[in-house]
Amino acid sequence: MKKLLVLFLALVASSASVFAKGGGDAAGGLPTIGVAIYRFDDTFMSATRNAIQQNAANVATLRVVDSQNTQPTQNDQVDQFIAQKVRSMAINPVDRTAAGTIVDKAKAANIPIVFFNREPEKADMAKWEKVYYVGAKAEDSGTYQGQIIADYWKAHPEADRNGDGVLQYIMLKGQAGHQDAELRTEYSIKAVTAAGIKVEKLAEDIANWQVSEATDKMSAYIANFGDRIEAVFCNNDDMALGAIQALKNAGYFGADGKYVPVVGVDATAPGLQALAEGTLLGTVLNDAANQGKATFELAYALAAGKDVRATSWTITDGKYVWVPYQKVTKENYKQFQN
Ligand code: BGC
Ligand code: CA
Repeated sequence: MKKLLVLFLALVASSASVFAKGGGDAAGGLPTIGVAIYRFDDTFMSATRNAIQQNAANVATLRVVDSQNTQPTQNDQVDQFIAQKVRSMAINPVDRTAAGTIVDKAKAANIPIVFFNREPEKADMAKWEKVYYVGAKAEDSGTYQGQIIADYWKAHPEADRNGDGVLQYIMLKGQAGHQDAELRTEYSIKAVTAAGIKVEKLAEDIANWQVSEATDKMSAYIANFGDRIEAVFCNNDDMALGAIQALKNAGYFGADGKYVPVVGVDATAPGLQALAEGTLLGTVLNDAANQGKATFELAYALAAGKDVRATSWTITDGKYVWVPYQKVTKENYKQFQN
């Protein structure tokens, strides 16, 4: 009897200590994970967010917040997650150089973090052992874009509109400082020149990953350079769709066959639709489904106090999950449509 009482008291004590941890376990005893997305109205991040939510169904309770493209807002959201005693956090930083501040707060509260899509600087990743990153090797996506354009150029002599043997191009970049913007810009052109093609940059500008900004910038370039434009590189599909809209407005992709190759990255649903229609020449699968799955599974393991190496993901350098990109063209796009 006495033994039973001791056991009972021990049980009460242990469950009390669980509750003392607070809001960690909301509905049905599922662990609570805080998720912050840099902005909800980003096509690619919407796909990633959906993947996170699907994987969390019946497994964890998520608090998902829109950081509205404002780092101070996100910092407040992180403070709230900490006050709510979430068990772990999955953070898509607005400004990846601000990750250090978030790590400091999380470490002080002993709440593990998985960053995703916007890679913190190495020094910030190194600040604490319970910090991870899920993303993709930006260089590869640029290389694939460049290869798609190089293959097209070699197969289509008429692509050299002015016949000078040099590929005149436009570059539309994502947000400044984002690793995907910087590295796609660099490696796409590197791949073209590595294929033995001479290039001339007509113009390069930032369109912040957005369709409308890309349409505006591209319209101005068409007015400026007209037929001199021989290729358009865009750091993502939304900007490629914006550029395509501007080109359509200027009479491209119509009945008279006026054409200029445009490449993007992501393989979003509208991107694949443009590929099917023949306006987008190619794109690169940025695997939102697997990035979202990995982000959730790491955050969940950490929330449960488990070793992330117990998940099915390969952890590189103790902290990184790299989800591979894939080249997408007319030949294989159907396999990426769902
Ligand atoms: C995607 C973009 C997206 C950005 C958000 C990139 O990896 O290619 O479409 O806007 O991430 O951070
Ligand atoms: Ca030329």
